[in-house]
Amino acid sequence: MFESLKSKLKSVFKKSSDVLDSESIYEKKEPVIADKPPVEVSDEAVDSIPDVATQPPTVIEKSLSRKEQLKLSKLKRVAKSEPNEEQSLTSKMVGDSGKKIKEDPLDDILDELEVALLESDVAYPVVQEIILGVRDNLVNKKYSREYTLEQVVETAVKEAVRNVLHINEFDFMKWIQNQPRPTVIMFIGINGTGKTTAIAKVTKLLRDDDKSVVMAACDTFRAGAIEQLTVHADRLGVKIVKQSQDADPASVAFDAIEHAKSKRKDIVLIDTAGRMQTNNNLIDEMKKIARISKPALKIFVGDSLAGNDAIEQAKVFDAAVGIDAVILTKIDTDAKGGAALSIAHTIGKPIAFVCNGQEYSDIQKFNADWMLERLFE
Ligand code: GDP
Repeated sequence: MFESLKSKLKSVFKKSSDVLDSESIYEKKEPVIADKPPVEVSDEAVDSIPDVATQPPTVIEKSLSRKEQLKLSKLKRVAKSEPNEEQSLTSKMVGDSGKKIKEDPLDDILDELEVALLESDVAYPVVQEIILGVRDNLVNKKYSREYTLEQVVETAVKEAVRNVLHINEFDFMKWIQNQPRPTVIMFIGINGTGKTTAIAKVTKLLRDDDKSVVMAACDTFRAGAIEQLTVHADRLGVKIVKQSQDADPASVAFDAIEHAKSKRKDIVLIDTAGRMQTNNNLIDEMKKIARISKPALKIFVGDSLAGNDAIEQAKVFDAAVGIDAVILTKIDTDAKGGAALSIAHTIGKPIAFVCNGQEYSDIQKFNADWMLERLFE
């Protein structure tokens, strides 16, 4: 998963030790603790000191001049991003003496980073935001010699990436606890992205959480889609409401909701069509299903391998029916990671889950830490 992007990032970090001038980055001397008497330290306390080589960078004092602060806030305004608590992690690596990082050698590193991200299908606005964030985290700061140059640059990049991922806060399982029943969820996306499989995986999650589920087979355009969903419903032991091929998908959704109401079922999961060749009809169909079924949540299912195309598809569906969250599929075979990094930031909707395989259990809640662990470990 994300191997290509991960190795590109690693080579950028490695290069930083050749390109950046270490004297311009590190503080000149160790911080001096003035006016404090020496402290007696017990053997136990010494044993409990973490080994720097095996620990993530720890926190040291931050002290920026007025001029530096002005420059920082200007950069932040340009990036249009609010500083968050993670960004302060890099700030806390900053020392209070010595020279500063010069911008010129940094440009080389940032150019390399930009190419690595673009080659990995990260959306252009997101690339720009990351680059500005990294610059923000490095320029005119001085770092403790406790960290290698690679660590300094890696942390700066990691925090910038974390910042673009911060929109990914959606806990589906928590959300669903407090919804009126039956809770209707509509799944939207192009054929072949893994929409049907994702519905089956979400059904499994809900069944494991003791929720009763009804599936609505609203992709009436393809007989195969109805059959495929029926196979999943049978395997998972849930009711499926379906009609014949070419039936009105909105009426199938209506029937499924009526069934759920009469049988006191908790959740209705609506599958929809995703044919590309008749796109306008498809959008009209989605609008009608949404109008009739009034879903509490509309989930766009996108194929992570499609990269920027997945983002463009999400934008079209969002403009037409308004999507609330994203499921990204096939992430197990995605070496680039571009869609996972950029989709939420680009469309302003969180990734609820990523799917990482063909088994029902191959579904994973998404959050920034999950992504960062896979990119930076
Ligand atoms: P739909 O046309 O959008 O409903 O797509 P399907 O659910 O039928 O999935 C299309 C193909 O992708 C099937 O062969 C699935 O087994 C496969 N697939 C779905 N999700 C994943 C995933 O997360 N990882 C992998 N490797 N394959 C997946």
